[in-house]
Amino acid sequence: MRLEVTRRRFVELLTALTAGVGLRSKAQIRATRPASPGATVNRKNLVATQVKAYAWQDEGIDKLLDNLQQKGNINTVFAFTYLSEATDVSGHIPLPDHGTYSKANPEIGGAFYDYDLKYFQNTTLKDFHASSKFNVISEVAPKMKTRGMDFFAWDYNNTNANMMRLIPGFTEVAEIDVYGKRTDSACWNHPNYRAQLTGRIDSYLSGYPGEVDGIIWGCERMGPLDNMIGGGWATTGISCFCGYCRSKARERDISVERAQRGFIKLDGLFQAANRQQRPADGYFVAFWRILLEYPEVLAWHSLWNDSYHEVRSELYGTAKALAPKKPFGFHIVQNVTFSPFYSAVDDYAKIKEYSDFIKIASYNNAGGGRMAGFVSRLCSTIFADATPQDLLPLYYKIMNYDEKPFEEIDRKSVV
Ligand SMILES: [Zn+2]
Repeated sequence: MRLEVTRRRFVELLTALTAGVGLRSKAQIRATRPASPGATVNRKNLVATQVKAYAWQDEGIDKLLDNLQQKGNINTVFAFTYLSEATDVSGHIPLPDHGTYSKANPEIGGAFYDYDLKYFQNTTLKDFHASSKFNVISEVAPKMKTRGMDFFAWDYNNTNANMMRLIPGFTEVAEIDVYGKRTDSACWNHPNYRAQLTGRIDSYLSGYPGEVDGIIWGCERMGPLDNMIGGGWATTGISCFCGYCRSKARERDISVERAQRGFIKLDGLFQAANRQQRPADGYFVAFWRILLEYPEVLAWHSLWNDSYHEVRSELYGTAKALAPKKPFGFHIVQNVTFSPFYSAVDDYAKIKEYSDFIKIASYNNAGGGRMAGFVSRLCSTIFADATPQDLLPLYYKIMNYDEKPFEEIDRKSVV
């Protein structure tokens, strides 16, 4: 990755995003309430970091804020107010300056704030509080105000089987895979789930108008084809084929049956690749032949991705109607930096139409272990005719990267 180019492009992108606030997407117009684009007041020189709920209790709120201000010159905190993942107590992530709270009281997830049920009248998914009674918003935000810092509610919605177990009724909004099986992921097109997502935005902005200065929303998920290619963040199940998604497909004149048949054929091909049973004409020819025969596969993949854009647009529209001046932005999963397929669907040109800022996940392993893992997955699926070493030079050209040989990228990560 050419770092200078990347940084410049990033700044250009942020500028473009700010300028793009005045635009309205088709999906945004369909949002539950009219948005008020252009009114957002972004803090100048926003310097932010994300903080998980347990860390406040682990380290002490004032001590943690002292550290952020003094060591990082941080003026904004993306404080997790909803997290669907359990506390990592595996020790894989070294946290030498943390206390012992997280290990003694591991969290499974849910909401780390108290909410009024009046914001959730249109959903049955009302009981999603984390086991912790600690209210991140009321405990932390006032202390940040006295320091001149901004509190952003960080609403993070990854797939996690625990949520299906913990939240009463959550399994009813689960995606259904191509074989008719329920998955661990919630469906974007299920109105019950959509109402809970928008209810949460309402509960932040209307429930805590003096505490919450902005919102960041995120979810690290991909559509069915990207999940089949796999790599990190892939969720299980080729989906979604629930009743809501089927009816949305029919509105688009996509044949449900043909999409199912195409995905099952593709699944068969990738399973054959896994067993190294090369088709007579090779893996890529077989892959392309399935797409030609069943273009519904791509149409269904687009349906999933369009729905994901639509949900985010609706959340943005809801927030802008409630608090037009407060920034609302999105976390972008790291795949956007190393998967040409995910990059194509999570298009910044679309995202800029419904966001005030973006936070691209960029860690030390994005250009290292994770990119190596993704290239290996490509060479176990659609490019299974080639090895990662064969593919890498072309991959670098496609991605406009100029990096190390495959054997070295895992060890010497791009930062
Ligand atoms: Zn669905």
